[in-house]
Amino acid sequence: MTTQNPQLDVVVVGGGPVGAYAALHLAKKGLAVRVFEEHPQIGLPSHCAGHISIRSLKKMGLYPLPNGIVENNFSVANFYSPQGTKFTLKLSCPVTTALSRARFDQFLAEQAKAAGAEFALDSRVESLLMQKGAVQGVRVKTGENNPVQVNSKIVLDAEGVSSRLVRQTGLPTLNPAGLVYAVEAEMENVQNLDLNAVEVYFGKAYAPGFYGWVIPRLDGSAKVGLATNRGDPREHLKRLMTKHPVASTQLGKAKITTMGYHAITLAGPIPQAYTDGFLAVGDCASQVKPTTGGGVIFGLTAAKEAAEVASQAIAQGDVSAQVLWAYQKRCDELFNFDIRVMLRLRRFLDSLSDERLDEMLRVCRKLGVDAALSDVTEIDFQGKMLLNVVTKPAMLAALGYFGLLYLTANP
Ligand SMILES: Cc1cc2nc3c(=O)[nH]c(=O)nc-3n(C[C@H](O)[C@H](O)[C@H](O)COP(=O)(O)OP(=O)(O)OC[C@H]3O[C@@H](n4cnc5c(N)ncnc54)[C@H](O)[C@@H]3O)c2cc1C
Repeated sequence: MTTQNPQLDVVVVGGGPVGAYAALHLAKKGLAVRVFEEHPQIGLPSHCAGHISIRSLKKMGLYPLPNGIVENNFSVANFYSPQGTKFTLKLSCPVTTALSRARFDQFLAEQAKAAGAEFALDSRVESLLMQKGAVQGVRVKTGENNPVQVNSKIVLDAEGVSSRLVRQTGLPTLNPAGLVYAVEAEMENVQNLDLNAVEVYFGKAYAPGFYGWVIPRLDGSAKVGLATNRGDPREHLKRLMTKHPVASTQLGKAKITTMGYHAITLAGPIPQAYTDGFLAVGDCASQVKPTTGGGVIFGLTAAKEAAEVASQAIAQGDVSAQVLWAYQKRCDELFNFDIRVMLRLRRFLDSLSDERLDEMLRVCRKLGVDAALSDVTEIDFQGKMLLNVVTKPAMLAALGYFGLLYLTANP
């Protein structure tokens, strides 16, 4: 087997948003970076709704985005129980945006290339090169060519949820019990939708273990999806479209133009995402919000931290786990509090029967939770967001009520 480029500083595995963003920050620091992406084109196939917080994108300097990436902005979210009870959160300005994920990923990759990162497409990393437990590069197969060995000082793994390389290092992998299985469809001819609003359908009758969603565009099309931890998500989606008292009026006559399947990891980050010469970032490290399944912002945030720590380690000539541990420390500081809160919220939602869920939405409406949350702009770091609103009387009353619901659902 031949060996290529012994002088590379970092190999990035995966040209998704996290890999491309890490490559951008590594290249900006003057490091020699090559990204291997198994598909022939960046961003395709797309498996994501691209529903992202505007505030978080702004904080990263990624908003506003160039034309053609943003499909719609939202200031309203409608939540439905299986019985059709609606709870509306109306915010004072657009807080979320729907991106074309393919174009967003391509934009990040172009930025990384402009900063000096190389991209090798149609190139699948088959395994890690390891010596005495330390990662020293990758074995990669491009097209029909024979696999080659590529050495690098650090391998940054951004393979996404189907990661295999983390397992090869012996690090703990993401918890399969926390996976939900999603179907994401492009639909035309959706009806009765507020184009400023995302629609969210809860309940075991339609989406056990997660929820269904509709993210409308301005042209009458929408991204529609559903994830579940039980059964075939396609069957659940069909049922939602035809039987749900509200969704059926919106999607009953819709035409599905494309459909894809992918897993979402909800169990919270793996406890250790680094070892000698290796960093795991994004979905492969399960850096995803357990409440909504959103992983883009946490993944990009971690990617920037990983690039910082990797460049410091390379500069001091020590890429051992003792040095790369700084990445873990930083991620723990950034995410752990919010992840713990979100894991509890997920457990709480999962514990509710459909009747209790319906009651909860009614009570939230009565208590004025919508008004109490109307000035919220932080939707990613949900623990900190809750700390900010918890002293409002409506929220105190609601949290007391949720506590009671939780205790009675889990005696
Ligand atoms: C249906 C669905 C809807 C979602 N909606 C949202 C949303 O609205 N908002 C949000 O924030 N998050 C959402 N997510 C989650 C989001 O998609 C992920 O958190 C995000 O894509 C993670 O980025 P990543 O770069 O870590 O992984 P990925 O986007 O999965 O990218 C990994 C890349 O690595 C490549 N790759 C994998 N293995 C190899 C290999 N061995 N060699 C070379 N290349 C490899 C893959 O081809 C891929 O391009 C959704 C997920 C799903 C399934």
